[in-house]
Parts: sequence; structure tokens; C-alpha cells
Amino acid sequence: MNKFGKCLTCNVDLEPVYFEEKESKLYENTLIETGRVRTAVDYLVCPCCGERFIVDDSFDGPWVPKTYRG
Ligand SMILES: [Zn+2]
Repeated sequence: MNKFGKCLTCNVDLEPVYFEEKESKLYENTLIETGRVRTAVDYLVCPCCGERFIVDDSFDGPWVPKTYRG
């Protein structure tokens, strides 16, 4: 079973579209990057009809140091 679910229209498995999210923190009223990144799911897309489904952060990976990934 596809953990991302199925398209309500086509009943086919949705596919995740990933992006690299940079972690940032508020420091003295300025948003600074911590240097850590994670692979986050931007949205799910149906390969059949192309419809996009917005998701929350429940599919996102753990934060890792940028150097870990090269
Ligand atoms: Zn569809």
C-alpha cells in the first residue's frame, strides 16, 4: 500500500515531489539558517490526471547537517 494515498478521481497511487528544506531559527529578530537541511515533501501529484495534493510535514525526513549530504 502506498503510504501517500491514492488520487480520489483516478484511484492510482500518488507520487511525492520532494524539495530540500533549509532549517532556520529566529535569532535576535533575524531569521538565520542553522546549516541543517531535510528532504521534505512539497506536495503529492497524481501521475494520471496531474492533480496536486497539499500535504503537511508528516512525510518529511529528519534534519541532518548539510555536510552530511555533500
Ligand atoms: Zn488523478
